[in-house]
Amino acid sequence: MIQWQHGVTGSMNQMCCLLCYADIETHDHLFFQCNYSRSVWHGVRNKVDMNSVQESWDEISSWLVQRAKSKAIYAVGSRLLVAAAAYTIWNERNSRFFSNKLRPLEKIVEIIINMVRTKLISFKYKQTSNVKRFLEEWKLNKEDLLED
Ligand SMILES: [Zn+2]
Repeated sequence: MIQWQHGVTGSMNQMCCLLCYADIETHDHLFFQCNYSRSVWHGVRNKVDMNSVQESWDEISSWLVQRAKSKAIYAVGSRLLVAAAAYTIWNERNSRFFSNKLRPLEKIVEIIINMVRTKLISFKYKQTSNVKRFLEEWKLNKEDLLED
């Protein structure tokens, strides 16, 4: 730990995380060890039943890889959600870096949810109890989306 801190302070090109200002920006920090991005992730992960997955990029990606071919609605939703979360957090980081615009994490959560909902609306769903639970979780109108 001491050695790590020494290494960090000894290097000029290590950048402070623009989301929390409390740590060095690395991929693992941004996804999702950072206080800010972890809170964002905690605000969305329950919508795809990923509460039990450790909030590290390794754990999350291996969880996704295991379900990569699955067409189950929660697997599909989790792929969309992780992609949207990573994209939006990176986008927020860039908007802070380039234009110094800061958005609260509640706003980021809202953007992620809306991004995924927009994609989910275009799908057709089979009538299963999992699908119904999923659509309720995402506040999508079952009558319009379910196949007969
Ligand atoms: Zn951070």
